[in-house]
Amino acid sequence: MRIGSYEIFAIETGEFALDGGAMFGVVPKTLWGKKIPVDEKNRIDMRLRCLLLQGDGRNILIDCGMGEKWDAKMRDIYRLDTSRYSIEKSLASHGLKTSDITDVILTHLHFDHAGGSTYKDNNGKLLPTFPKATYIVQKENLDWARNPTEKDRASYLKDDWEPLVQAGVLKIVDGEKEILPGIHTKLFYGHTRAIQLPFLDDGKTKLFFCGDVIPTSVHLGPPWIMAYDNFPLITLEEKKKILKQAAAEKWILVFEHCPLISAAQIEAAEKGYQVTQGHL
Ligand SMILES: [Zn+2]
Repeated sequence: MRIGSYEIFAIETGEFALDGGAMFGVVPKTLWGKKIPVDEKNRIDMRLRCLLLQGDGRNILIDCGMGEKWDAKMRDIYRLDTSRYSIEKSLASHGLKTSDITDVILTHLHFDHAGGSTYKDNNGKLLPTFPKATYIVQKENLDWARNPTEKDRASYLKDDWEPLVQAGVLKIVDGEKEILPGIHTKLFYGHTRAIQLPFLDDGKTKLFFCGDVIPTSVHLGPPWIMAYDNFPLITLEEKKKILKQAAAEKWILVFEHCPLISAAQIEAAEKGYQVTQGHL
């Protein structure tokens, strides 16, 4: 798909699984269990999907999945599987290597979004995965990541970003702005503080990367909110606003964690919203 000067592709970096109850908050399993595959430990299938934007001499990634630096225990807890998809394999299918990436927009620093930022070399030293890239994060999210609450500290692991700081490749931005040419961000505060979600609009096509505000296509109902969220009533208002505008203006919504569909347009339905047309 083309928007403005960018050719845009979904990039799968792996598969994992999280507790279905935690993923759907107050919604009972009798409802969500019919809509998404669930395993014997009550975990739902999830993807670690990023976007690749190519144009103007840049190869830009939006988020970078969990990466590969996890031990067997963590891989088991999160059922992390990079046998079918990995960042290297997906980039190779576009003729790219990790060293070709020029910019990485990190929506926020939770490990399933920023874990792929760094890797361990043979000596166990943590290094940036994309050696020539500038990584971009919101100041308020970095501050929160360094001092998380007890509720979300398990999701913020400093090995995912402090090596970027040490290497001098983490660019800290503050507020909603055009962070790269043609890429604007919108900020969200319900899931965690200051998630930056990219929005592209070339006058013909509008695309919004939903990140953890609408993690899968099964989360289109406004109260279908993750129990992980720090401020769920803020998420509710943020979702209602985004969904209404997305349906009215036929935005293409990209679902970062959805195992069923990577991107789609939506329309209002009897209860909330439904997907109309798949993309990517
Ligand atoms: Zn998150």
